[in-house]
Amino acid sequence: MFSRRIRELAPSGTIALSNKVSKLKAEGIDVISFTLGEPDFATPVNVIRAAKDALDAGDTHYTPSMGIKGLREYIARHVFRKNGIKTGIDNIMVLPAKFALYAAVQAIVNKGEEVILPDPAWVSYGPMVQLAEGSVRSVPMEYENGWHLRALDIENAINSRTKAIVLNTPANPTGSVMTRPELEEIAKLAKEHDIFVIADEVYEDLIYEGVHHSIASFEGMAERTITVAGLSKSHAMTGWRIGWIIGNTEFISNVNKLQQHSLTCLPGFIQQAGMEALKSGAGNVEMMRREFLERRNMLIPLINSIPGLSCEVPKGAFYAFFRADLGMDSMKLSERLLEEAHVAMIPGSAFGPTGEGYMRMSYAASRNDIAEGMRRIKEFVEALG
Ligand code: GLU
Repeated sequence: MFSRRIRELAPSGTIALSNKVSKLKAEGIDVISFTLGEPDFATPVNVIRAAKDALDAGDTHYTPSMGIKGLREYIARHVFRKNGIKTGIDNIMVLPAKFALYAAVQAIVNKGEEVILPDPAWVSYGPMVQLAEGSVRSVPMEYENGWHLRALDIENAINSRTKAIVLNTPANPTGSVMTRPELEEIAKLAKEHDIFVIADEVYEDLIYEGVHHSIASFEGMAERTITVAGLSKSHAMTGWRIGWIIGNTEFISNVNKLQQHSLTCLPGFIQQAGMEALKSGAGNVEMMRREFLERRNMLIPLINSIPGLSCEVPKGAFYAFFRADLGMDSMKLSERLLEEAHVAMIPGSAFGPTGEGYMRMSYAASRNDIAEGMRRIKEFVEALG
């Protein structure tokens, strides 16, 4: 009855669990959720105001499929100033960052071609490759090595079928931040072997140690880099579904075809809000970053104080990816924590085989939730004996 493509597709480990939490909460169960990477802050008021003004002004119709020109101009200036990416509006399209990643894979991967993914990595890259009938080539990373991707491992994974490498810095789920020399080595490989780099930079504003580098700004990389970013994480705008994709003009015009046959465009009032977010500068972003840093500093010692759990200090994003040696696999632990302690977090195995033995906890949650959640986890672990 259903296509093989869809039957073989697994649900998203993040979204499915967060749906389950919403259902339990609706039933009146007091669950503390550390599932989704979603800031608990309100979207800045000026951004909300811009959307309301646009709605009042009747901005409720179709917009150009590439995105409105004004917003693309803002994005071009923004990525030049912040990331050193020299680009023009024909290199930029406006779409939700997650759809942008899906579209990027659809645009470049043929049946049987390979995409190199770090392991562990975000839950949806693999299924996106699967939907394009490509194959995933995983490059395992190590906790002991701070979850850093090694260029040598990437080199060993490259073969004649390799089409692209996905880089995600700061990384979901590990919070690691790639250094400039690491990115330079990978850029060299991409050029030597003529492959694309898909640079998922949605967490670029959330760095606590180190600096963010955009590989698209490196010598000779603009042509072969597809950069994806957006406002969800930086501006607490997850529900607005606004982000962008940057690439060479031929790539962008191909993605535009996909947009025209699927989403059509993003709502005008949302793009007006996006413009306001970029216009209003980094004040709100910095306020949120500082608060995430405080929460990280509160959370990591709490994790490490519980026997069987251990976590290195993550340098970016808002996830603690901690080791859990409690005599059960991460899926079982996630289920039991939810049922017995009413605490929800994502099992490490959702992020790839190397994630087994770990749990991802989003600390984009209030300090009260972090304190109460950790109290419940401690109680649960103590009861295990
Ligand atoms: N990217 C966020 C996360 O990993 C949101 C959920 C999703 O898109 O997977 O939690």
